[in-house]
Amino acid sequence: MQDSRSAASALDPATLGRQLFEASPDCVKLLDGEGRIVAINRCGIEALGADSIDTLRGRLWRSFVPEASHAELDASMAQAHAGGVGRFRGCMPDPQGLTRWWEVTISPIDGGLLATSRDISEQVAAEAERERLLAQLRSANERMEDVFRQAPAFMCVFTGPGLVFDMVNERYLQLVGGRDPVGLALREALPELAGQGFVELLEGVYRSGEPVFGTDVPVMLQRRPGAPLERRFVDQVYMPLRDPDGGVSGILVHGIDVTDRKLNEIALYESRERFQKIVSQAATGVVQMDTEGRITLVNQKYCEMVGRSEAELLGVSVLDFTAPGSVPVTIDAMRRLAGGEQGVVVDKEYLRRDGSLMPVTSSVNALRGPSGEFQGLVAIVVDTTEKRRAEEQLRASEERYRTLFESVDQGFCILEMIFDEDERPVDYRFLEMNRMFEVHTGLVGGAGKTAREMVPTLDSFWFETYGRVAQTGEPVRFESEAPAMERWFDVYATRLGGPGSNRVALLFSDITSRKESEATLRKLASDLAEADRRKTEFLATLAHELRNPLAPIRSGLGVMRLKGDSPAAVARVREMMERQVGNMVNLIDDLLDIARISGGKLELKKERADLRTVLSSAVETSLPLVESGRHELTVDLPETEVPVEADVTRIAQVVANLLNNAAKYTPAGGCIGLALRVEDDHAVISVSDNGIGIPQDQLSAVFEMFSQVGQHTERSQGGLGIGLSLVRRLVNMHGGEVSAASRGPGTGSVFTVRLPLASGAQAGGDMAPAFEPDGAGGEGARILVVDDNVDAAVTLSMILDACGYTTRVAHDGAHAVELAAAFRPQVAFLDIGMPGMDGYQTARAMRRLAGLEHITLVALTGWGADSDRQKSSEAGFDHHLTKPVQLDVVQDLLAKLAA
Ligand code: ADP
Repeated sequence: MQDSRSAASALDPATLGRQLFEASPDCVKLLDGEGRIVAINRCGIEALGADSIDTLRGRLWRSFVPEASHAELDASMAQAHAGGVGRFRGCMPDPQGLTRWWEVTISPIDGGLLATSRDISEQVAAEAERERLLAQLRSANERMEDVFRQAPAFMCVFTGPGLVFDMVNERYLQLVGGRDPVGLALREALPELAGQGFVELLEGVYRSGEPVFGTDVPVMLQRRPGAPLERRFVDQVYMPLRDPDGGVSGILVHGIDVTDRKLNEIALYESRERFQKIVSQAATGVVQMDTEGRITLVNQKYCEMVGRSEAELLGVSVLDFTAPGSVPVTIDAMRRLAGGEQGVVVDKEYLRRDGSLMPVTSSVNALRGPSGEFQGLVAIVVDTTEKRRAEEQLRASEERYRTLFESVDQGFCILEMIFDEDERPVDYRFLEMNRMFEVHTGLVGGAGKTAREMVPTLDSFWFETYGRVAQTGEPVRFESEAPAMERWFDVYATRLGGPGSNRVALLFSDITSRKESEATLRKLASDLAEADRRKTEFLATLAHELRNPLAPIRSGLGVMRLKGDSPAAVARVREMMERQVGNMVNLIDDLLDIARISGGKLELKKERADLRTVLSSAVETSLPLVESGRHELTVDLPETEVPVEADVTRIAQVVANLLNNAAKYTPAGGCIGLALRVEDDHAVISVSDNGIGIPQDQLSAVFEMFSQVGQHTERSQGGLGIGLSLVRRLVNMHGGEVSAASRGPGTGSVFTVRLPLASGAQAGGDMAPAFEPDGAGGEGARILVVDDNVDAAVTLSMILDACGYTTRVAHDGAHAVELAAAFRPQVAFLDIGMPGMDGYQTARAMRRLAGLEHITLVALTGWGADSDRQKSSEAGFDHHLTKPVQLDVVQDLLAKLAA
């Protein structure tokens, strides 16, 4: 300061320059061309830590400059040398060691250099401080932005009352589905918020300046274009932002999307709820225990199972009500689970309050914390009372069944079906069988063998049947024959086990003998039915046959009443009545004979006789019948005696029977032959005719009792169907045989009797005259009487004659029709059963005759059933009378007709 004051007083420019040089606050140095110090002011001397210029003069200024600044110094000096001004900044410690900053300016001056170093240490420090503060601010800002951007929370800033988005962070974009709202008003950017209350809420914050907080706030957002609104949950804060004047200028929205947590919470809640429900209502017991085995949770079922209430159980150890016998397994299970095992199953028993035991199966699992630490146990407990009972029952029933199957008298076995690759049953193996199996099948040692091994020819029926039982599971019961085993079986077969099982159980019996007796029984029943049918027919026939002789007898009595004064007529009628009574006696004799033979009471009065004589007497007996049929009888007997040991009456009866049949079953005017010959040691009698013949299938049946070929037909010639039966029995009693032969209907028949011979003799025979019927004359109405029973026809015509009618008589249909054409009767009585043309045919033929259209036809028959009346009316009969006809009935009828 002193220098500057003295300088101010001096006006010498050099002095002034000197003073300025000395008083300069900068360090000023004058350097030569090489940079050596020529002059230096006070400030410079101090700065270089010297006392005077003396120690500094001539020294390179460069040597005082720190090496770090050498390059800049050199460059600035070079610039000054070149006529410019070189500048650089550098730092250099001061003599006290404190770093000082210098701003150096080098300019050229008269072949040297002027270097001015201004101390800018404070300026540099201030600059550095500013820089530091700026940097701090920058980094704070950056951090803020990072926070804003990377915050785990969503953030956005609205400005102005119109709520325009100013900033949003990534999380916010994620929340709203990536729509960038910056620059848009909230209402336009997120239109779906309308009606949800958020816009109004924010506007309220803006107005009031009061922040708003919300947790678990549901918000519906359109997170993808076109997709339905999505519900999100957020925890959020609306913070008013204030400008420097304290007025609200915007709102910071800051929050967290808690949707996942919320949904998890909901799910957890629901699942917990569900779990609780399931556990409480479970049909199995559930119990939870802590690490000490004390109960912390039980469900209703568990309480029921152990017979205690929930209150009694909570906090108690399960061991307290575990049956003593089950305590060790329970402790062991707990230990194992505490030791690291995850789950164990224990069969144990609880001791109930009432002292009873409850068997259970308990599946116990360890409960572990996040790091696997043992936290307790949970057990699912199932009541096994029923299971045990069922097991015991099964055992007991198996035993029972085994005993049963061993003790039944039926066969029992278990089979295993064998199928081929196409699932067709081809065989089966016997797995086991009971004792009776062998008895019913006759098969020995079958276990392990197959059916085909035991019975190679066994029918496939058995494989198929049992195969079907195995495949369908449907049991079957059947009876079937196994021809390969020559047995019948009654079998019940059922599958053992469920679908897929190949095992079939059989319970069966050998029913061969039952089947045989059933067949016998069936035969017997059918024989019985046949016998019964014949008997019924026989009774009807018997009634008919008894009426036949009764009819003429009754008529005869009528004649005797009317013509008792005519001895000739009475004599004729008596003769006829005797004959008819004789017929009845024969019939009844036949019946008695049959009864005697059946009862074993008929005794043969055998004697030695010539069969020829016997035959002659038979011819005598049959002659009236032969003659009434106008048959031609040829008798062919040997010349020599045919000796037999026989009951001659019975053999005559046999032959007469055969001759009578020949006459009966041959239309009028037939040929009948009787022949006797000797063959070996037998006498052979044959009776042949050219009559109606016998169907082949009836040839042996005609010898059966009550059998008649075709009843109620034109064949029917009366008779009881016992004649041939009697013949056979009598012949058999004589040690002989009888047989019938015929080539069929209409071809005649031959009956052959073979009798054992006794020794030889000869016999002959002769014939009796035929009975000639005749019609009696009279006046009044013309009546035709037609009946093959000559006596019946004649007596009726005699009665009618006596009553004043004019009658004619015919004994067969053809003759009747012929007679009617000539005689032109007003009334005709027609018998129905006649050989050849029967009554029906005759009636029809008569009706067809010219002039006889209105003839009154009266059926006269032994058959009086409704069906018979029906038949006669169909054939054109006007009336139907049954034999024997009563005279007053006939008279009534004729009187009515006359009226
Ligand atoms: P019926 O009393 O009916 O004559 P039989 O026992 O004498 O009884 O004869 C049985 C049946 O055999 C007869 O009903 C008849 O059908 C048949 N018959 C018997 N002999 C002859 C024969 N010579 N020609 C045709 N059929 C006959």
